[in-house]
Amino acid sequence: KDPAVLDAMRRVPREQFVPDLAVAEAYHDNALPIDCQQTISQPYIVALMSEAAELDGSQRVLEIGTGCGYQTAILAELAAEVISIERHMPWADQSRERLHGLGYTNIEIIAGDGTLGWPERAPYDRILVTAAAPRIPEPLWEQLAEGGILVIPAGDTKSQDLMAVKKCEGQPVVTHLSGCRFVKLIGAAGWDESNN
Ligand code: SAH
Repeated sequence: KDPAVLDAMRRVPREQFVPDLAVAEAYHDNALPIDCQQTISQPYIVALMSEAAELDGSQRVLEIGTGCGYQTAILAELAAEVISIERHMPWADQSRERLHGLGYTNIEIIAGDGTLGWPERAPYDRILVTAAAPRIPEPLWEQLAEGGILVIPAGDTKSQDLMAVKKCEGQPVVTHLSGCRFVKLIGAAGWDESNN
């Protein structure tokens, strides 16, 4: 519902983030497969997560799970700066190229295990996790600023609870947003590659 989020979604050309075969479906309200372990999230969920992050253009945001970079672009429209981590180096490289090609200058894409966050630049005003976590990764909680908001799908690998968790005097205050289904967050403070 947030007009700023809706405007951002009007500005970002989603057809440039999907594979050629799926371009005709780029504006359907569906997630689309990109390859076996990667999807471009459903636009409704991207909007819901962006709205829950309560961005007013001043925040520094850490995103985990760049994928094709669509959510990254929406965040860059709404925040001062976005640092996004993707575990698969080729996808990190491809999304960096795509986002810079679209003219974004406030995005940094890093290849690595996002469950560990990026301590060098902490604390972050907002952290968005766009892959399914078994629980809140401790390093991400530590790197969230006081008063900051973490948006994360947590649960099992089949379905998760999408939550916005605000850090109030060091304590988590949880708002439940929706049920959802993301691909696995794989890493030291996430799932193992092998389990389901
Ligand atoms: N944000 C994307 C959706 C990404 S799908 C969008 O806008 O559509 C989830 C992504 O998380 C995949 O690209 C996957 O490789 C990545 N991922 C999984 N575990 C990760 C980790 N520990 N660190 C960084 N990226 C991870």
